[in-house]
Amino acid sequence: MKQPRYQPTTERFLRYVKIPSQGDPKAPKDKRPTTEDQLIIARVLNEELLQLGRQNEIEITSEVLPNGMVLGHVPAAKGFENSKHLCLTAHVDTYPYPNSTPQVTPIVHPAYVEGDINLPANGTIIPAKELAKLVGQRVITSSGDSVLGADDKAGLASIMQAVSKVLSEKTARGPMTILFFPDEEDGRFHAEGLPRELVESWDMFLSVDGGELGEVDSACYSGRTVTFKITGKDAHPGPYGHLIVPAQVIAADLIMRMQAMPTPWNKADHGGYQFPKEVQGEAGAATVTCIPRAFEDSTSLILVEELRTLGAAVASDYEGCKIEVEVKHQYTSTADAIAANPLLMPMLAGALRKAGVTLIESRAEGGTDGAMLNLHFPNVPAPNFGVGAHLYHSWAEFIGEDDLEMGMDAVAEIINAFAYIK
Ligand SMILES: [Zn+2]
Repeated sequence: MKQPRYQPTTERFLRYVKIPSQGDPKAPKDKRPTTEDQLIIARVLNEELLQLGRQNEIEITSEVLPNGMVLGHVPAAKGFENSKHLCLTAHVDTYPYPNSTPQVTPIVHPAYVEGDINLPANGTIIPAKELAKLVGQRVITSSGDSVLGADDKAGLASIMQAVSKVLSEKTARGPMTILFFPDEEDGRFHAEGLPRELVESWDMFLSVDGGELGEVDSACYSGRTVTFKITGKDAHPGPYGHLIVPAQVIAADLIMRMQAMPTPWNKADHGGYQFPKEVQGEAGAATVTCIPRAFEDSTSLILVEELRTLGAAVASDYEGCKIEVEVKHQYTSTADAIAANPLLMPMLAGALRKAGVTLIESRAEGGTDGAMLNLHFPNVPAPNFGVGAHLYHSWAEFIGEDDLEMGMDAVAEIINAFAYIK
């Protein structure tokens, strides 16, 4: 029999990365999915999921929803019908890096020994120090002018292969939802568009996305957007210059005063910060968009209050100026729901150990998919599991073949272990 060239998860991964699936962050806000490409990969995943059902004579249902999500259901194994309900999820889009070649041409390099890896296109180099952990395994990269897309096709491949494995080996599994969704990189995970009853039946929402192999995020930021809408007054700067209330200058002043607060570039530790992300404007009107970030929601709210106070102080220093503050909650920390289920982390650690993977518990300094879910469904514990993508969101992104396989094994062990949790 002909030996496959690569391990099964890698075979699958290589197939998925060749299907372009970037989202379009410039698409209108309510457009879902933002690109046709994402529908193409969604249809492939949907068909493969249904095929797994046919191959294993199990009634798997799956469909591509109009918003581009793939929503599949795998019934429990016999005797595990009353086990807890697991949702496994990954996103189909890859990071929309500007001016990337849309078609990804993956390269599988021989087992890594030492030194930098030079990619053929665009002079992209992967530095040796980033590769140190992959000694002895084959390394998968793009050709250097596109993002490989291990974020999050490693997630798609490891979930699909793990489901295939537990079905063919007939090991323990409770009822499972398989959810693949588009436009995650742009924060458009449409959690509120999911059937409420279904989401509320989930006992764990495990996103398999990004991060080092074995990293489990049991907490993350709570994120809000604060927009200052500054109204000034415009006039001809010559004869009527004295009438100008310069909104753009007020915006600059507001940002400069924010320097006295913790910002991403001057914060002392991994605590909360204020980030003036974007500024636009002229004399008549200007906007400053800030994203305060903190692990605790209570701290996030304090940061928002600080910004309101700042807005009021700045407005009072400029006669004729008005500053309105708009606050939007983007996502909330996953910490509380995970902490409320104390069996989860030990269960995950045990499952990973069986797959030869050490669990590294961490707090994501950002918002995970679970954090977007928890904004609408705060009670569903939603950890995030990394399966080994490195340098993601860059043309130097890479992943190791053995890491991919072990990550998949870990997902399969999680499915088994979760079936036994009471
Ligand atoms: Zn991702």
